[in-house]
Amino acid sequence: MIRVSGKTKHACGIFGKVILTILISALSIFAIVLATYKPVYSVYMDGEFKGYVTSKNKVQGDIEEYLQEGDSDRVGYILLNSRPEYEFDLVKKDVETKDDDVLALVKDSCDIYYRVYAINVNDKDVCLEETLEDAQAIVDKVNAAQKSYTKKAKVMISEKFEKEYDAVADITVAANDIIKPIKKENEAIVKKVQTYAAAKTVPQEILDALKSQSADLKFGLPVTSYVITSRYGWRRSGYHTGCDYAAPMGTPIHAVEDGIVTCAEWKGNYGYLVKVQHAGGFETYYAHCSRFAVSVGDSVKKGDVVAYVGSTGNSTGPHCHLEIRYNGATIDPETLASGSNNA
Ligand SMILES: [Zn+2]
Repeated sequence: MIRVSGKTKHACGIFGKVILTILISALSIFAIVLATYKPVYSVYMDGEFKGYVTSKNKVQGDIEEYLQEGDSDRVGYILLNSRPEYEFDLVKKDVETKDDDVLALVKDSCDIYYRVYAINVNDKDVCLEETLEDAQAIVDKVNAAQKSYTKKAKVMISEKFEKEYDAVADITVAANDIIKPIKKENEAIVKKVQTYAAAKTVPQEILDALKSQSADLKFGLPVTSYVITSRYGWRRSGYHTGCDYAAPMGTPIHAVEDGIVTCAEWKGNYGYLVKVQHAGGFETYYAHCSRFAVSVGDSVKKGDVVAYVGSTGNSTGPHCHLEIRYNGATIDPETLASGSNNA
């Protein structure tokens, strides 16, 4: 049996009391602290104190979610420029914590890149659309417009990420803006081809040979059924260099003699004009045509269709203005042209 002396008992009693007192004091201080203070996190961004938050996990979770999802589905990605740092702290209970404010600050510091769709014309971005559907609609409109063009533009869509951008407001306007220069370019091509065609000439030696040929010409009539609406010579409107044979629009116009076509193009007041060079220095003009049936250099026989009646140029109604020239000077067609078209 162990015997404990009275002294030892006493010492133990004092020791226990001291421990108890310390424990009670510590608990009291803890209770006072708990009653007066609360645990928080101090938030720092770029070393600068930004405020207190209650839950580090909640704030971090919100930030991560924002970085992943963004505020809208147009957000492509977000770059976070400064990451918040947290320090555990005890502050008085009445100190405000601002969990949402920290999220707002983080959002402000971010670079947001939005997903947009660039319309690409011949490898160059020309405009941006917010949705793929609208971008596709523009491309479809442009492709429909350029369907008949000789020189088509390559129109494509590419996905882009932009911090700031101007999106197209009106699909039709955007499509028209894209098609305008393509259309212009194609019109220039058509014009070039036309100019080239018009530049086609009959070699001079052939014309000279034809002109010097002695010929017994019997001029026919340009249209089979007609009404003469204006004769050769002085008219109220001035000197009429030919004779007007009115006939319905599209009526075939026949060459009045054999010859070579020297002109089939637009000529100011004459509108669409066909000129035929005949033997012996004679030339005939068929003016105001609606369309041509021959081209420059074609050899025609008397009666061949060279064009169709129209009302192009300086004309008040469908008719064929026939002009006959001898070495450049006009002659009254009615004194020469007559009878059947077929010699
Ligand atoms: Zn006339």
